[in-house]
Amino acid sequence: MLIDSYDRVVDYLRVSVTERCNFRCTYCMPEKPFSWVPKENLLTFEELFEFMKVAIDEGVKKIRITGGEPLLREDLDKFIKMIYDYKPSIDLAMTTNAFLLKGAAQRLKDAGLKRINVSIDTLIPAVAKQIAGKDVLKNVLAGVDEALKVGLKVKVNMVPMKTINADEIVSVLEYCKEKDMSIRFIEYMENTHASKEITGLKSKELLSILHEKYHFSDDGFDGSSPSHYYTMDDGYRFGIIEPYADDFCKQCNRIRLTAEGKLIPCLYFDEAMSIAESIKRGDIKGAALVLKEVVRTKPEKNRWGGEDSEVSSRAFYETGG
Ligand code: SAM
Repeated sequence: MLIDSYDRVVDYLRVSVTERCNFRCTYCMPEKPFSWVPKENLLTFEELFEFMKVAIDEGVKKIRITGGEPLLREDLDKFIKMIYDYKPSIDLAMTTNAFLLKGAAQRLKDAGLKRINVSIDTLIPAVAKQIAGKDVLKNVLAGVDEALKVGLKVKVNMVPMKTINADEIVSVLEYCKEKDMSIRFIEYMENTHASKEITGLKSKELLSILHEKYHFSDDGFDGSSPSHYYTMDDGYRFGIIEPYADDFCKQCNRIRLTAEGKLIPCLYFDEAMSIAESIKRGDIKGAALVLKEVVRTKPEKNRWGGEDSEVSSRAFYETGG
């Protein structure tokens, strides 16, 4: 079992398989073209899988594939199948923008994927184009429908932003409710890569919009999720992630691996250690030692809020959010 210095069990690994993305979401990526990590620096699926086995053997029970956009990486279903075949009980999930999901959902499900999180910030095509930089909504919604059709569980992530999509909070929630998908609103996290024009909606503002239409109770946190949950009178549950509150750090169970092999103990901090060299030379013990060291040095809490707070320079397209 992996236990950090604050007695938290670390059993959740998020793996970003590529930093590349087919969207240019204004809250995540710079507008100007920028240079990607060269392909030769990325770990192959076989190399990533070697590390997955180490992590699973050490106690990881949940793996989320993310990116960039994970569906841009060829043979993703084969990678998922490798992990599933190694340990079928692994809770295997993926976060995607769903643009390419329609053609991939069945293969991913057959490979062993259980759940997906899809980013849906709007249901208006022109707003989706404004946020993502191209006309994406039709494909995204078709991808969601296909995922539901093949039996994948789907959760939706929405980042509410003033003057952009704040007026769609209720309609996106209703869309999710209708399709029996849960929704989590993620407060916009300032970062140096995002457009300077964005002002995110804070949890309080969001709740006051929702209170105008619904009655709901506050359920607090549930397990290790960073989401604060609320249940409506009809039983529908939604979540809000407030990255600027550190009260979810005490139940944090996650570490992150980038496509280059950097193992990151906390999304907030720049610190990371690489497992790439050990894995490339087949040094499984070395990789396990790096893993344990990263868990040991996992910070007690983030610094999104409070006096030390600063705008993060970490790119969410690199770490997978
Ligand atoms: N391409 C995939 C997708 O769109 O879901 C996976 C990667 S994306 C970086 C993962 C999540 O991070 C998405 O739900 C996205 O909304 C969220 N995200 C990215 N930048 C963010 C920001 N500045 N503030 C809040 N959430 C952000």
